[in-house]
Amino acid sequence: MQLYQSQVLKIYNSLSGKKEVFTPLNEGHIGMYVCGPTVYSNVHLGNCRTFMSFDMIFRYFKHLGYKVRYVRNITDAGHLVDDAEDGEDKIAKKARLEKLEPMEVVQRYTVDFHSILQKFNFLPPSIEPTATGHIIEQIEIIKDILEKGYAYEINGSVYFDVTKFNEDHAYGKLSGRKLEDMIANTRELTAQDEKKSPQDFALWKKAEPQHIMRWPSPWGDGFPGWHLECTAMSTKYLGDTFDIHGGGMDLKFPHHECEIAQAEASNGRSPVNYWMHANMLTLNGKKMAKSTGNSLLPGEIFSGDNAILSKAFSPSVVRFFMMQAHYTSILDLSNDALLASEKGFHRLMDALQILKSLESRKNSDFDVTSWKQKCYDAMNDDFNSPILIAHLFEAVKHINAIKEGRESISEADKALLEATISSFVFDVLGLENKSESEAGTDKLAGVVELLIQMRKEARDNKDFATSDKIRDQLAEMGIQLKDGKEGTTFSVS
Ligand SMILES: [Zn+2]
Repeated sequence: MQLYQSQVLKIYNSLSGKKEVFTPLNEGHIGMYVCGPTVYSNVHLGNCRTFMSFDMIFRYFKHLGYKVRYVRNITDAGHLVDDAEDGEDKIAKKARLEKLEPMEVVQRYTVDFHSILQKFNFLPPSIEPTATGHIIEQIEIIKDILEKGYAYEINGSVYFDVTKFNEDHAYGKLSGRKLEDMIANTRELTAQDEKKSPQDFALWKKAEPQHIMRWPSPWGDGFPGWHLECTAMSTKYLGDTFDIHGGGMDLKFPHHECEIAQAEASNGRSPVNYWMHANMLTLNGKKMAKSTGNSLLPGEIFSGDNAILSKAFSPSVVRFFMMQAHYTSILDLSNDALLASEKGFHRLMDALQILKSLESRKNSDFDVTSWKQKCYDAMNDDFNSPILIAHLFEAVKHINAIKEGRESISEADKALLEATISSFVFDVLGLENKSESEAGTDKLAGVVELLIQMRKEARDNKDFATSDKIRDQLAEMGIQLKDGKEGTTFSVS
């Protein structure tokens, strides 16, 4: 028997606006699609939070014994600068500015994305498809939608006909918007606009001669609209209707609304049973934005190289901080919040160490079995990780009381407690107890910097005996100093 058979999991479905009991299409199997990054810059910390929420959800499904096919795409074409119909492709623009091939831009930032996610201890998705690898599938869907009469071609571009679609289906059902209101609130089309209505969106855009990312199609050279890739890749790998589609809250409209419209127009079926949206991350109470300086990259947090935080924080501490909020709530990152999370994280890790060395007695003062079910109840309630963490700290209190001799625990309960905490902390929340060695590395760097400074002072005083001694003894320990124009650096062999 698998764990999921004994647990009732509820998921907040953005489509119904309600928490619903989760029933997958095929028992024991889950198909989940999450909109991945557009790889034209370093991965944003807010995006990391979104992907981390779905990593935790993926981990919990696996923990429950489900076989999960988790598809998270890489957007490497078609996402235009203003998220709408006009403007340059985000990747093509970066390629132009940095004098690179678009695929060099894609490669550089895909590598960055993966390396940051690895530091955060993400599990890789089952499939990570790219938009440029699925141009043929996208063209096929456009042909299908044209054939069904929900799109029109004009001057080498193809647009989705929202008005026509809305006659037979409900456009706006995910975001709760009504087409009439949308029409009333948008500007009139100008003479240059090709679209019949401002709500229509591009399925295929004709490539102007200067547009470098282009593919041949029945309508001439062009490139797919951004919304289409996710319809093509999700249905290709998960079927016409699949269990879960996730993404950031900001993608609900228009991106996900358009995905629903495209899928329903092409095959007549509602593509997704449960829509899930993760909320955003703010910094010091304000929206993160590079232009105002209120922004942090993950790497800047890990290195401490930033003007916002007082020190470096390990990926596990940042992950723990993010897991302390429910994925549908806005989370505010600040120095104080990270310091508090760091303290909490160490308390939790210390308790796990203490637990291993506790002496067991005949009886338990702590009902571990019912506590364990409370942990599951928290996660079964729409993946409520902050409540789970509160239960973990309840266990920490008992562990400390047992250590101090105020409570006792039986051998069996001790083993159950240890196994339960480990599986929730490491398997489900995805934390790693690495911070000790990371802190050690930081301290070592500080000591070496101090010695470099002392060696410099010795040299300035022409005390070469001392400066050589520092260099040679460090070399014996496997730390090489290298003098350069910018000062002295070191490497550890
Ligand atoms: Zn998407």
